[in-house]
Amino acid sequence: MRAKTLDGREIDLKQDALDGLKLRLKGPVLVPGDPGYEESRTVWNAMIDRRPAVVARCLGVADVIACVQFARANDLLLCIKSGGHNIAGLATADGALMLDMSLMRGVWVDPRRKVAHAQAGCLLGDVDRETQLHGLAAVLGFVSLTGITGLTLGGGFGYLTRRWGWTSDNVVGMDVVTADGRLVRASAEENADLFWGLRGGGGNFGVVTGIDYALYPVGPEIVGGVVAWPASEATRVLELYRTIAESAPPELTLVLLMRPAPPAPWLPKEMHGKPIVAVLACYSGSPEEGEKLVAPIKAFGKPVGDVLVRRPYAQLQSLLDGTQPKGRRYYWKSEYLPRIEPALCAKVIAHAARIPSPHSAVALFQLDGALNRLDEAHSPVGNRDAGYVLNLAGAWEQACDDAANIAWAREAWNDLKAFSTGGNYVNFLTEDEGPERFAAALGKGLQRLAEVKAKWDPQNVFRTNRNIAPV
Ligand SMILES: Cc1cc2nc3c(=O)[nH]c(=O)nc-3n(C[C@H](O)[C@H](O)[C@H](O)COP(=O)(O)OP(=O)(O)OC[C@H]3O[C@@H](n4cnc5c(N)ncnc54)[C@H](O)[C@@H]3O)c2cc1C
Repeated sequence: MRAKTLDGREIDLKQDALDGLKLRLKGPVLVPGDPGYEESRTVWNAMIDRRPAVVARCLGVADVIACVQFARANDLLLCIKSGGHNIAGLATADGALMLDMSLMRGVWVDPRRKVAHAQAGCLLGDVDRETQLHGLAAVLGFVSLTGITGLTLGGGFGYLTRRWGWTSDNVVGMDVVTADGRLVRASAEENADLFWGLRGGGGNFGVVTGIDYALYPVGPEIVGGVVAWPASEATRVLELYRTIAESAPPELTLVLLMRPAPPAPWLPKEMHGKPIVAVLACYSGSPEEGEKLVAPIKAFGKPVGDVLVRRPYAQLQSLLDGTQPKGRRYYWKSEYLPRIEPALCAKVIAHAARIPSPHSAVALFQLDGALNRLDEAHSPVGNRDAGYVLNLAGAWEQACDDAANIAWAREAWNDLKAFSTGGNYVNFLTEDEGPERFAAALGKGLQRLAEVKAKWDPQNVFRTNRNIAPV
């Protein structure tokens, strides 16, 4: 079978070598044509179409170690897939040995210490489901089907970020298989340099097999959901969003969305496909206080839909899932913004009016709060001046519509990037974004990351990622 070496040469991977790998692994080893190979090799974004030579569906740390050792012994290119949600398709590579972590989805909660240990293949919803049993939550993202590991390794933000910082600020430790096939612990006490690098430097340093998250009391009942208006109300709704967000306590997080209305049951049928403006909200403190704070949003104008109510936190975490299915074509452009300026609002409305697909959106995610209070050097994520994330999120079905949808996102971005802090979110970078965009995403941390890389992966075994060259 044809496979690729670390430096990209094609080689013949012999059947006995492959049989040897199968004997060493507890999980299934798949090659093209095997049942399950297609599901494993594909990622969330259908724009990415790559074919690893071999997929190893790891069932535990021993399988991961066996794969790393096998790849090293045979000089094979390695790639690692946890949730497979990275828009640039960093989880998959042609000709590689893919470590598919998606069977490792165990979560163990210690409610006394307020820590959850999650295996690397977990999706966000797996962690929320177990932690919420104890009225606790980790700081994770907005879509329950996203992989925890890629999200955490790039920073991570969601409804709880304003209270407790980036997801990676709330990691207590990680278990990591290194380039030489050893299992090590990365925490403030053990291998602190590796721990620093992992909290923003992506998959450059090893295979993460498990993550320990600090947990906080949240819910189970919170006030959360969404209110939507026709896009003709956008100027007034954006002003409302801006005003409430500016004075919101850290427990309240607001997201603004402009898009064609999805065919959701809470929106009237006649609105489906028509342009709307919507505010998503989560108040993660007491529901009584939350109801008071979101009342002006619910009372504003004449909404076409309002499901901003008391509900379980875990339910809010999956509210957007249906709008982001695996298998569509996706292209994003993002920037961090220090604040929302009126001039930006007018441009957002104009670009939203030109969205060429029923699935695309302009999103403004509120950040600031806790993440701004930590030092820039605290972790490689940096961007401690970020107040909001702007995402121009193109999504469509057919390859023949690629050009129009990519052009929309790029044109809007060209016009809006003047409002940026200069930074962007590394986990939102698309395939065509090069080293300058990566450098802007990581701010001042790149040099130190290169030193950590040189120590932990001098041969650059872990290179199918936003790669940091060892120095
Ligand atoms: C629908 C959707 C919603 C999103 N919402 C949010 C959000 O609310 N907040 C947010 O912060 N981000 C969000 N993101 C972005 C998200 O953080 C990234 O897509 C992230 O890569 C997802 O992690 P994953 O495990 O699925 O990554 P994968 O695609 O599996 O992998 C991405 C990268 O991480 C590396 N990697 C994966 N697993 C490991 C491992 N076990 N060890 C070492 N390296 C590994 C891979 O090599 C690859 O380079 C969203 C993405 C999508 C598609």
